[in-house]
Amino acid sequence: MRVAFTATILAAALTSQARAEPVAVTFDDVPYLSLTTALDYQQTTTRELLSGLRRRHIPAIGFVNEIKLEGPDKPQRVALLSAWLAAGMDLGNHSYSHISLTGTPVAAYIADVAKGERVTRALMAARGEAPRWFRHPYLETGTTAEARAAFEGWLADHGYRVAPVSMENSDWVFALPYDDAVLHGDRAEAERIRQSYLDFTARVVPWYQEAAQEVLGRRPAFVLLLHASRLNADSIGELAKILKADGLKPVTLHQAMKDPAYAIPDPYVGPDGDEWVARWSLALHKPVPWKALPEPAPEIVAEDARLDEALTKTVAGQ
Ligand SMILES: [Zn+2]
Repeated sequence: MRVAFTATILAAALTSQARAEPVAVTFDDVPYLSLTTALDYQQTTTRELLSGLRRRHIPAIGFVNEIKLEGPDKPQRVALLSAWLAAGMDLGNHSYSHISLTGTPVAAYIADVAKGERVTRALMAARGEAPRWFRHPYLETGTTAEARAAFEGWLADHGYRVAPVSMENSDWVFALPYDDAVLHGDRAEAERIRQSYLDFTARVVPWYQEAAQEVLGRRPAFVLLLHASRLNADSIGELAKILKADGLKPVTLHQAMKDPAYAIPDPYVGPDGDEWVARWSLALHKPVPWKALPEPAPEIVAEDARLDEALTKTVAGQ
């Protein structure tokens, strides 16, 4: 009996291992997406996020907006980036000012992206490394074929590859309401938001797996988009469990990008910021099951919009 039982466990373990699909965990808006610029808040977020990633052996990459380093305490903010590298994580370029390619002439866009790597490149050079990945803000890749070719030519000339997104959980919708609750000391509300975020993630991750299956006929290595938020810093353990339960195994972005799905020519040219399942759908003429895509609750979407508007007004007034 005991032998049979052990054999069953072993077989189950082997099956789940064989089923594990790679997922690259990526964070945008590094050093932080937050309702506050307060340095101590961001130091805590960074420390907790990185220690959580290390504890779970998740090799993440952070995409930097260097505009967030500016100000009188720039050295301390640069130290947030150094912490990513010291923790063994990779860093990439997300433009200087989180600029929209759809709304910007390509020459101005390139200037912003070039400005966006100064600190990161120097920090990485000190370690014998260089930034190799660029993530488009809003996933906007160019409204004309010419703009797209001009920008992607610049990227290639500067040693960059485009970092796609093939899985996301709308984490940014929950991030500001969570900060608001944390900053007001409302622990019950923060926990309520965090739980609804985790519930939503558990529903939306399998949707991406099924959507990719329908479009590609198989499940590829995924690239998961998250943001450098306190919400994720406080949830990384549960997020890792959700990925594991769905048969996903964290790998580096470099490893995930070896999947041939990312070599499929991306035919999209236009104003939208499409995820890669939509781009694969366009290339392969296979529909995406959008109707089954779970949506975050309207209340959290409204709360995020309210806080985002207030934040924009504050920044504009400075
Ligand atoms: Zn972003």
